[in-house]
Amino acid sequence: MEKVQVTIIGAGVIGLAIARELADHASDIIVLENNDHFGRETSSRNSEVIHSGIYYPKGSLKARLCVEGARLLYEYCQTHHIPHQRLGKLIVATTEAEIGSVRSLHEKGRGNGVINLAIVDAGQIHAWEPRVPGLMGLWSPDTGIINSHALMESYYREANQAGVLFAFNSEAKSITRQGDDYEIVTGNDEYRFRSRIVINCAGLYSDRVAELAGLDVDALGYRLQYCKGDYFSYSGSAPVSRLIYPVPHENLTGLGVHATLDLGGRLRFGPDTETVDRIDYTVDERKKGTFYQSACKIITGLEKDRLMPDMAGIRPKRKGSGVMDFIIREETQNGLPNFINLIGMESPGLTASLAIARQVRTLLQGSSSGSGL
Ligand SMILES: Cc1cc2nc3c(=O)[nH]c(=O)nc-3n(C[C@H](O)[C@H](O)[C@H](O)COP(=O)(O)OP(=O)(O)OC[C@H]3O[C@@H](n4cnc5c(N)ncnc54)[C@H](O)[C@@H]3O)c2cc1C
Repeated sequence: MEKVQVTIIGAGVIGLAIARELADHASDIIVLENNDHFGRETSSRNSEVIHSGIYYPKGSLKARLCVEGARLLYEYCQTHHIPHQRLGKLIVATTEAEIGSVRSLHEKGRGNGVINLAIVDAGQIHAWEPRVPGLMGLWSPDTGIINSHALMESYYREANQAGVLFAFNSEAKSITRQGDDYEIVTGNDEYRFRSRIVINCAGLYSDRVAELAGLDVDALGYRLQYCKGDYFSYSGSAPVSRLIYPVPHENLTGLGVHATLDLGGRLRFGPDTETVDRIDYTVDERKKGTFYQSACKIITGLEKDRLMPDMAGIRPKRKGSGVMDFIIREETQNGLPNFINLIGMESPGLTASLAIARQVRTLLQGSSSGSGL
């Protein structure tokens, strides 16, 4: 039976970043991807924002990997000519009650190591963005936007050139521990092979892949609950030139319907939050009224007729209450040496992709089970 050193399950932005990171350290790597192309799920259904790391609890993986990831990503964009723009973002308090939250976010961001944050008053907001009715705002100049497709293309090309093998239309259907290796069976042609290391970055299916390998995902807190986010685009010229966000939800289910611009200057509102049980990317047109109300809170003088249903993405949230962190774990203690799970990789997974990939390499190089990396 054929044997490889590393199998990566899932070719979203995170699987691609890991493939690129490990390419120079492993003898052979295969990436299994269910779809016929990389990046067809969550990685191409998001806001394409390079986050700075303000929102996440201090000491969390989300906070650390977002701050480190944003720095690495800007460097990568420069050296690899990935279209991006450091537009900056304003989080605005539109009621007196929200002013305290803006101050707390400022403290939180600084605690996470985000530099250059500043509190701005209503006059400054008005001078920059006359259509934004903020009483006070948090200015994050290092938040930006990126062409996520160009980024994934670049990760893919680098990994491919370094010898990583990509198997598309190949769903990992069974994973069994056999001696020091894992035996993996893929869907279509019942192809079987062995792998020393398995990395599960299957996004919305990562809990099921962990279960395939024999883990009790409910007991471990790996079970996912999907949370859909719809977007509406705003046709015509954009009334703002920066990213405009409201004060976020208390439990960070989402960041609140916000206004993002893409690299073509097109304005979009979203994503909202809706708990769902299945994957369906249809945008519910009936939400137009609610989107209009949310959008009018952060930008004045909008015309409802210019709002159009756009696209939707689904967050792979871990089940549970409060802010749930990423899981990036080597599973020796759960009986699966050299098996790495990445679960709950919602935002800021795109921003953090390079830092996440480094973290995975560090875990493997430090593995007590001897990954051979
Ligand atoms: C609405 C929304 C907005 C977001 N906005 C931002 C943002 O602005 N900035 C930011 O940093 N992050 C953002 N994110 C988060 C970011 O998009 C994700 O963290 C990132 O895309 C996750 O990448 P991934 O590779 O883990 O998952 P995916 O892109 O979902 O890739 C997983 C892959 O695994 C494959 N797969 C699944 N099961 C199997 C199997 N058994 N065998 C083989 N292949 C399999 C799938 O086909 C898929 O291609 C947002 C997310 C959402 C939902």
